[in-house]
Amino acid sequence: MNVPFYGHVRQYRAIQSEIDANMREVLESGQYVMGPMLKRFEKELAEYHGMRYAIGVGNGTDALWLSFMALGIGPGDECITTTNTFFATAEAIWVAGATAVFVDSDPRTNCIDPARVEAAITPRTKALVPVHLYGQCADMKALRKIADKHKLFVVEDNAQAIGARGDGFRIGELSDAVCTSFIIQKNLGTFGDGGAVVTNHEHVDRAIRRLRNHGSEKRSCHSMGFNSRLDDLHAGVLSAKLKHIDEWNDLRRKHAARYTAALGGARNLTLPFETPGYRHVFHLYVIETARPEQRDPLLKFLNDSGIDAKCHYPIAIHQQAGYPWGKEARICGPIPNSERNAACCISLPMFPELTEEEVDFTAAKVLEWDRSAE
Ligand SMILES: *Cc1c(COP(=O)(O)O)cnc(C)c1O
Repeated sequence: MNVPFYGHVRQYRAIQSEIDANMREVLESGQYVMGPMLKRFEKELAEYHGMRYAIGVGNGTDALWLSFMALGIGPGDECITTTNTFFATAEAIWVAGATAVFVDSDPRTNCIDPARVEAAITPRTKALVPVHLYGQCADMKALRKIADKHKLFVVEDNAQAIGARGDGFRIGELSDAVCTSFIIQKNLGTFGDGGAVVTNHEHVDRAIRRLRNHGSEKRSCHSMGFNSRLDDLHAGVLSAKLKHIDEWNDLRRKHAARYTAALGGARNLTLPFETPGYRHVFHLYVIETARPEQRDPLLKFLNDSGIDAKCHYPIAIHQQAGYPWGKEARICGPIPNSERNAACCISLPMFPELTEEEVDFTAAKVLEWDRSAE
């Protein structure tokens, strides 16, 4: 049996008529950039979050640095984040001209550890940038308290967790901006690049609308800006898919529970931890081997068995040769948890359209390795 890592085409087939109808509507409208379909999707996305504003932009990375710029974060300012994330989180801080300050992650959730944050704060700190890694919210209540005490912004990297919730808080409720990515691998994905910022601040909404469109608020009048827009065809695809996101996240949660039930007895593995009271939306189902030297053999065994398991992310940002060390970044304290996560992580196939047979086959192969592992 072959188990794919993604189910993009399965998902398209399942709701093809809805997607095709929206795309046809855009094509026949003749308005493909900043048209009515983008407006419709922005309204739906803001409503979905229970927030006032949503602004479609070119991709998730742009959503992050446009948010930093809209909040006035730039050269000389510091943003505190984690190193066990997709590279774009740090890249966006660099694009804005600010300094990334990395702290360790919580060993169970792999999200930023609030207990490490205060020690990293300096007079130059401007923002906390938690990543809702693998589909689970960071501890936003603790982060908000720290941010209030030190008068900091909070910008949520929500590329992986649309539809997730905390215990008693929603995404966006405790921050200044929520940044989302819509590449196809994400829980809500289009057939190309896309992203959005969701916020309750009118000034952030206005600044990003200006910045994403050549610094223009009025036709032919410009201040300095960029070109980073969400195309209407993508907005149409996303509008069709947004109606299904809760049901798809429920299916991810169901598959995750099935994996966890099957793998509960494994001796050499740590399974994903769901913080009590949270709704984890399992963008990824990430297990960790007990020891780093077990990771590659397990990955190879699964791949050789026809299972397209992967690693997210085997090289943490502070271990990347390409990161511009110097004044652009610094590490605060040792970060053993993020390093362990990078060294031991394996992502099992996870997407809503997985079948129970595929989950069971994958779990059986993982257990077969576990029994033979020393
Ligand atoms: C995907 C992702 C991004 C970047 O999104 P793009 O749309 O690819 O630019 C940023 N942060 C995290 C955590 C991501 O997973």
